[in-house]
Amino acid sequence: MLTLEKYSIGVGDRFAHQAKAQLQACVMAAASGVTVIPVWNKSNREHGIVGSEPASVRAAADAAVRQMGWKQSYYVDADHINLDTVDRFIDASDFYTLDVAAAIGQAAAADRVEAFLTRHAELLGTVSISGIDEPFTIDRQAIARIARKYLAAVQQAGAIYRHVDEKRGGREFITEVSMDETDAPQTPPELLVILAAIADEQIPVQTIAPKFTGRFNKGVDYVGDVAQFEKEFSEDLAVIAFATVEYGLPANLKLSVHSGSDKFSIYTSIRRALDRFGAGVHLKTAGTTWLEELIGLAEAGGDGLELAKQVYGKAFENRDALCEPYATVIDIDYAKLPDPAVVTGWSSEQFTSALRHDQKNPGFNPDLRQLLHVGFKVAAKMGDKYLKMLEACEPSISRNVTENLFERHIKPLFLAS
Ligand SMILES: [Zn+2]
Repeated sequence: MLTLEKYSIGVGDRFAHQAKAQLQACVMAAASGVTVIPVWNKSNREHGIVGSEPASVRAAADAAVRQMGWKQSYYVDADHINLDTVDRFIDASDFYTLDVAAAIGQAAAADRVEAFLTRHAELLGTVSISGIDEPFTIDRQAIARIARKYLAAVQQAGAIYRHVDEKRGGREFITEVSMDETDAPQTPPELLVILAAIADEQIPVQTIAPKFTGRFNKGVDYVGDVAQFEKEFSEDLAVIAFATVEYGLPANLKLSVHSGSDKFSIYTSIRRALDRFGAGVHLKTAGTTWLEELIGLAEAGGDGLELAKQVYGKAFENRDALCEPYATVIDIDYAKLPDPAVVTGWSSEQFTSALRHDQKNPGFNPDLRQLLHVGFKVAAKMGDKYLKMLEACEPSISRNVTENLFERHIKPLFLAS
């Protein structure tokens, strides 16, 4: 079986031009003595918006690895796929994120819930888990309620896993199960029941992406109770350590933090919790790199800056349509978006100050940043004009892409001691 390493970072590359600059951040981590494995992820939804094919992600990753002489592992993640969308990822990917969030809450058949309760008598009553101060006390009714809520989703994950396994015909792959794109966070006791069910389905899950407490808005910092987040994150780690032994799940099973980029205020909490358990983590980022492309364009000045302003102008004009599919993962105050006519007069410095995720900069505008985060469709529509400009402004873009991943993400999360 392909085995995902302890630390890994998901990197998204909407327009397939930044793989080298992204890999450079992992090269710098390695030079600092820590292996952080890159995983290039792109969801079916992103491919749809950009108009790309999964093979392009594989090609860009392979080329970057070859050109940079990267000797360690790397993977290509078919992100957020399901039975309807996975087939075109079979050859290009070796990492599959089985998204079953939509099936959460679909009532499981009564006999299956009953069978689960019978099989898992160990969950009834008091469950003491090392690393959690207060044992969970879950009665039969509570387990039945959790099972009813999640069993159908886990069974669907099983069906997708077996489908991929069959289609891959013996070619190994890494399996992630994601439940993050839903309304309510999953509590640690729920995670325990979910993992028991995943083991029953015999899914060799190596990463699991629950929905955590608090808001994980796209491209901006965490919004929520940081202390509560740390408590639940630690309990999730304890549950995973327990479940790997109790249910024989892969020993390297770890949490995957989706929309994990830019959550600067919780990285210290995550780091502390990982250290406490000796656990690994997968940090999934995607759009943060596309924003660095825009920053690099603006920093280059001239035509690059001009194009970045055009992207903002179009995104502003189409803000309702662009924001609609992302309603649960953005919080944009339209009143705080600058008028495009004003932005037209901005210098490079003004544009990058507004966009770059530096909360200490008085010019930083998180509303503008979120709008541009979901605005990549605008650049996709520009087609060749946009891609050509990426190439023309390559030095300033790659510098920003690498620095963002290394300084703001890898350093605090993977290198801090
Ligand atoms: Zn996700």
